[in-house]
Amino acid sequence: MSLDFARRGVSTSLDTNGLWAVLAGVPDPEIPVLSVVDLGIVCSVEPGRVVITPTYTGCPATQVIERDIRAALDAAGFAAVAVETTLSPPWTTEWISEAGKQKLRAYGIAPPNPPGVRRVACPQCGSADTEEISRFGSTPCKALWRCRSCAEPFDLFKCH
Ligand SMILES: [Zn+2]
Repeated sequence: MSLDFARRGVSTSLDTNGLWAVLAGVPDPEIPVLSVVDLGIVCSVEPGRVVITPTYTGCPATQVIERDIRAALDAAGFAAVAVETTLSPPWTTEWISEAGKQKLRAYGIAPPNPPGVRRVACPQCGSADTEEISRFGSTPCKALWRCRSCAEPFDLFKCH
């Protein structure tokens, strides 16, 4: 859908709306319900230039994301648009958009806590009566938690 939009529109490097539309269609490789825009890793979109910041320092997903964005831009006719990576300011989980946090919960993953907040709410039932089972869940960026209220295990997104 977003790629169609970009193709129908004038696919020039001056078309930043088209660029945003393409980026909104690029999923996070680890959590496909989130786009790279939901994740907040797109720092700026300018005519001819997209600047992203790596999410998971040391995670292989970062290179995958950059490659996926490049491929999506090329496919939408934005081959001339440069993809640049910046390390400053560093990405934190606070950059995940509200829409992104909703999608995480719907996917069964607890969104990251604001700094200093240690309570983790169960994404299934909302109970705060939860406990950590393992520091590492299905990927290094997630911890495995369990809800004592509904007995469901869930992932906590913990990268920051
Ligand atoms: Zn629960």
